[in-house]
Amino acid sequence: MTEAVTVNTRGGARLLIVGPPGAGKGTQAAFISESFAIPAVSTGDIFRDNIKNETPLGLKVKEITSSGGYVPDELTNEIVADRLSQADAASGFLLDGFPRTTGQVGFLDDWLSSNDTQLDAVIQLVADTDHVVERLLKRAAEQGRADDTEEVIRQRLAIYEEQTAPLIDVYSERDLVVTVDGLGTVDEVAQRILAGLSARGIRPAAAA
Ligand code: AMP
Repeated sequence: MTEAVTVNTRGGARLLIVGPPGAGKGTQAAFISESFAIPAVSTGDIFRDNIKNETPLGLKVKEITSSGGYVPDELTNEIVADRLSQADAASGFLLDGFPRTTGQVGFLDDWLSSNDTQLDAVIQLVADTDHVVERLLKRAAEQGRADDTEEVIRQRLAIYEEQTAPLIDVYSERDLVVTVDGLGTVDEVAQRILAGLSARGIRPAAAA
């Protein structure tokens, strides 16, 4: 007889990637997602898609995101819980841009424990402020992100420092943080991430 399986306890990897805007999180998230065959879930992308498609959620968050502020936890948490409950996230996921506040950390803790699972590691990408401002201005020009003016970028970085950087302390206390220098080519940074995870026994299935 086949036993009922609690899908969330099977294999995979449950990871976070944290770092200031412009540190290259999105690019590295795509790489990790492919390496580990887990979905990369970016709350920023979810909000941008909804804004672009003018959904009710998009209309609600448009003003907030364009000023660089944070969408209220209640709304953000609900979206994340919804996304993580989808079948493709059953054996793992990489969250990019969530959690960003201590309230969101608490929500994620509760969600994980009620799904009988836990985080494996938190990847912290470190990058210098002037460097990320430069990167973000370039990206804004290339991708036509009209909301990314220098003023908004600096505002985003200040909010990151104030609200999100302290989360690293929380996860450090739990010994979950893998700190990676975000300066270098995409490949160099990717290899550093893989090495940092591997040192903790977290490896893509093929290389396990
Ligand atoms: P990002 O692409 O991750 O920098 O996100 C773009 C914008 O979406 C942020 O500046 C916030 O306005 C909003 N956002 C993304 N993730 C979150 C989150 N976890 N909590 C609150 N707001 C968020």
